[in-house]
Amino acid sequence: MLELMTEPVVVTHSLTKRYGQRTAVDGLDMHVPAGVVAGFIGANGAGKTTTLRMLLGLVRPSAGTATVLGHDLGDPSSYLRKVGALIESPAFYPGLSGERNLKVQTSLGGIPERRIPEVLEVVGLADRGGDAYKSYSLGMKQRLGIASALLGEPELLVLDEPTNGLDPTGIRDMRELLRQVADTGLTVLVSSHQLVELEQVCDWLVMVDAGRQVFQGTTSQLLAAGSDRLVLATEHSRDLDRLVAIVQALGALASRQGRKVHVPLGGVDDVTTFLAGVNRAAMGEAIVLVEIAVTAGTLEDRYASLVGAA
Ligand code: ATP
Repeated sequence: MLELMTEPVVVTHSLTKRYGQRTAVDGLDMHVPAGVVAGFIGANGAGKTTTLRMLLGLVRPSAGTATVLGHDLGDPSSYLRKVGALIESPAFYPGLSGERNLKVQTSLGGIPERRIPEVLEVVGLADRGGDAYKSYSLGMKQRLGIASALLGEPELLVLDEPTNGLDPTGIRDMRELLRQVADTGLTVLVSSHQLVELEQVCDWLVMVDAGRQVFQGTTSQLLAAGSDRLVLATEHSRDLDRLVAIVQALGALASRQGRKVHVPLGGVDDVTTFLAGVNRAAMGEAIVLVEIAVTAGTLEDRYASLVGAA
């Protein structure tokens, strides 16, 4: 439903980037609906930064096409003034206050100064704007970076791993900020290598693994797509590690969680056959299972099974 409301803000068709022999981004067909917080999720090296850099006209695609805010990727000047971005750590003067740093940017960008208090307010730095940048915490530095990306009143905000290095409180604050920014009508495209950091705030997810897209849709679609989880327990806890190996040998992802083994079932085609196989293999190794339960999985289970399947 979400994607049908208006024209997507970002659309890519078979977008590809090769560096020599290495394919960093491999045939990406992503779209980002207007007005959402879209999470762009993938492990380190999955191709997120390269994709974002292509969308911002900083890297030229090897193949494929894309539009941003309805404009062709080949003509970045037609859309870039409507896009705010935080891709690498922004270059701020450490000795200047947050406010003075933003002033440098408004002067350079021909942006009205009235935007400075407005964006400081949005990112929650209104009462710290006068303090030197070097005195800011990492979270505050990130927020000033977002303030700076918002100065030009963009329609699309692109953030590359803004939660990187933040503590749990900083991550929660960042989520709240992203939600708040999206509520003003902006579309936010934000990358992370940790789904768990962003899942609560994302309306839309694009997941990549080794340059390839493995999922795109709403978080509820991700959950609905067969994300059950198998929970196993053994009579003796010394058998748990061997059980993990057995399940992995059957082609599923398994991990030890305390006294249990968890297996995301998203990538398993026939659950009954799989369960029988696990049980038989465990018996073959003289491991007695005292619990075999299928429960509703988490988003992480689903992601893990997608990435594992890719
Ligand atoms: P991270 O979270 O670690 O930044 P990422 O998902 O953003 O990861 P990219 O930085 O896009 O991934 O990198 C994808 C792949 O492309 C990696 O294998 C990387 O080494 C390679 N790559 C990226 N930029 C270049 C470049 N300029 N020259 C050669 N290879 C590159």
